[in-house]
Amino acid sequence: MDSPAPDTYPETMSPGFSPLPGSLDCAAILEQLPLALALVDPGNGQFIRSNAAFRQSFGLPTRPYPDWWRQVHASPLLPPDTPCVCSPPPDGSARDDIESDMLGIDGRPRHLRTQARRHGHLLLLCFVDLTDNDSRQDLLRQALAEMEARSVTDPLTGLLTRRRLEEASLSEMHRFRRFGHPISLIIADIDHFKHINDTHGHPVGDQVLVDFAQRLSSECRDLDVLGRYGGEEFIVLLPSTPLAGAITLAGKLRLAVCQQPFAQVGTVTASFGVAECVSEEHWNAWLTRADRALYAAKHAGRNRVEAAPESAFDERSIKHRNRLDRLTWEDGHCVGDPIIDAQHQNLFELANRLLNLVREAGPPAEIHATIRALSDATRRHFRDEEAILATVAYPRHEQHAKAHRVLSAKLDALSGQSAMGTLPTGKLIEFLAYDLVDHHALGADRDFIPWLRRGPRDPAPLDD
Ligand code: GH3
Ligand code: MG
Ligand code: MG
Repeated sequence: MDSPAPDTYPETMSPGFSPLPGSLDCAAILEQLPLALALVDPGNGQFIRSNAAFRQSFGLPTRPYPDWWRQVHASPLLPPDTPCVCSPPPDGSARDDIESDMLGIDGRPRHLRTQARRHGHLLLLCFVDLTDNDSRQDLLRQALAEMEARSVTDPLTGLLTRRRLEEASLSEMHRFRRFGHPISLIIADIDHFKHINDTHGHPVGDQVLVDFAQRLSSECRDLDVLGRYGGEEFIVLLPSTPLAGAITLAGKLRLAVCQQPFAQVGTVTASFGVAECVSEEHWNAWLTRADRALYAAKHAGRNRVEAAPESAFDERSIKHRNRLDRLTWEDGHCVGDPIIDAQHQNLFELANRLLNLVREAGPPAEIHATIRALSDATRRHFRDEEAILATVAYPRHEQHAKAHRVLSAKLDALSGQSAMGTLPTGKLIEFLAYDLVDHHALGADRDFIPWLRRGPRDPAPLDD
């Protein structure tokens, strides 16, 4: 029934999850995880990678995935009805699992759950052994957390994936509702992109997408969230930005695209739809209003910005995007851990002291001393918060620690500039008000509240 196994493995196949540039820790963790994992190219069925646990259970796979699947299910020892493993749909959202009995290389039937998750154009297969006990569920959770971390960015442009964009939008909308901060979104769609592909070929089209993404990202602030939503459709989420500010930015983006020709293809234009989130609105409704505005821009001749009219914020609050000079601590800002809450409150006080000094053009030495104090307090807080998150097994612990490292680096840079007397005041205010407070303490830090509520876990998470 099965084709004979080849004598040698295909050259494209490497035996394990060997470390990859930029993801060294992750690759090592996946290789050592006592849970069978394999990466498969669904186009040709080839196994691209497998980890040690997979090879211990099944040996090194020597045939394409569909044949291998039949092989491990074909035994009189096993029930006759072998289910087909189905791939997740392109957006990777499926949570369909398959439980079946398989034969490992030791000849023992095992009851396994197979999960397929999309990773770029590949499938990551995860085999959870349910034969013995349930403790492997924990391993599954760890593996899924790792996989999720790997699918944050779109492989072509390096921007966030659609799923991550949607997640980010939910946390921004949460903040919008809770704290009344405006939030807007821009959808950008390249005009006549099909024509670019048809005329210059798909690889050149890909390069246009990469350049386009770079042009958008060079116009955005650090706290804007930029992602690739579909083929030639991009989304920018703009926290703390009302409609008028978003329209201004969309105009800048339009010029950044159309004013300089693209290599190989010349002038490219794009159309933009803008919408501000209105209260009680769900992501889909908000996106639909932006999409309708985009459609209007296309309909009106392309290379234009159109906006949905709804806006709850007047002209005065537009300045909010560039000038926020007082941070107000409220009980609603508490995350529920006394240490974290006290430290957050202290950071607010230090940030306010600094903002006051800057606004009143205080003595540079005092400004610098306050930045140093804020820097020390922030570092201490990050260290304590990471320790607390480790004890409650927060699954995004590692990403959160990374966000801390980015913030620390920025704070160091600002501190260095203030020591040299070249502190850019606008940048400092933006960092304190948006990056540190609005986006992190009142943003990312809210995501771990449910884990704090559940209390300490055992065992501690894998990440450091
Ligand atoms: P419009 O101005 O109305 O937006 O026209 P359009 O041609 O840009 O839009 P349409 O939706 O007709 O075509 C989009 C094209 O984008 C079709 C699809 O093949 C191409 N595309 C989608 N993803 C990719 C990709 O990753 N790389 C390349 N090169 N092309 C892609
Ligand atoms: Mg298009
Ligand atoms: Mg934090």
